[in-house]
Amino acid sequence: MAEEKRQPYRLQSSPAEKTILVLSGKGGVGKSTVAANLAISLSLQGFTTGLLDTDFHGPSIPKLLGMEGTRVYSDDGKTLHPAEMGALRVISVDFLLGSRTDPVIWRGPMKMNVIKQLFEDVEWGELDFMVVDCPPGTGDEPLSVVQLVPDPTGAVIVTTPQEMSLSDVRRSIQFCRALKLPVLGVIENMSGFVCPHCGHRTDLFGSGGGEEMAKQMGVHFLGRIPIEPAIVSSGEEGKPFVYHQGKTDFARVFEGIVSDLLKRSETAAGDGEG
Ligand code: ADP
Repeated sequence: MAEEKRQPYRLQSSPAEKTILVLSGKGGVGKSTVAANLAISLSLQGFTTGLLDTDFHGPSIPKLLGMEGTRVYSDDGKTLHPAEMGALRVISVDFLLGSRTDPVIWRGPMKMNVIKQLFEDVEWGELDFMVVDCPPGTGDEPLSVVQLVPDPTGAVIVTTPQEMSLSDVRRSIQFCRALKLPVLGVIENMSGFVCPHCGHRTDLFGSGGGEEMAKQMGVHFLGRIPIEPAIVSSGEEGKPFVYHQGKTDFARVFEGIVSDLLKRSETAAGDGEG
């Protein structure tokens, strides 16, 4: 009975479904923040959306969504049911591991088994979109995750304006090219700070580097997200920013990025089309 009910995550079964992988060249650039807000934004637009958090190093998705301590359950000892938040279905490595404060120090094969389980044993049901928060960098972990995604539509690469992370993002673009994964676009996060009192914009880490780099590499630039102090407090409080602060500049910028991304994922326009 449980076997009949089971609907594994197979994007090939429906061409309408799309999977967007969120990548970054290194940690701490806002990859999970973008993944969580992208998934929330799609679900608020009425798309049934899955959010799969595969970042072992700092699974911040449960925290960002106020879902810390969530456990997933299984009817048959194998199939897992995602946690639900409206039209959003969420699975995180943390939902399998229990609450923990220690960094995860696991051997590669163990990690891969858990990641495989996240892909194979979850009954997602019908999804319009799947957003995958990938481990940072271009090493074995993001490689294994990308290879496990059955039919990826493409990747969004998150960077910050600093040169360091820009050289990291170049590696991410090359990583996607090597895997024939279309790059849907690059997002420059933490790009400038607008003073809430006087409205003056300061580019603390420089600005425009992401756009310039995207041009040079022949990939599409999706936009710049400013530094927004309220993002940090929303994250701390587990209130996804787009959902709770829908009228801010950040939210408007983010909505613009999502609608551009939606158009690009329609045609699966990717790498090389700038
Ligand atoms: P990553 O997934 O790349 O490691 P996170 O999404 O966890 O990064 O973000 C790292 C930190 O930066 C978090 O505390 C998050 O709240 C903060 N952050 C992300 N984007 C912004 C932004 N645009 N403005 C201010 N803080 C941000």
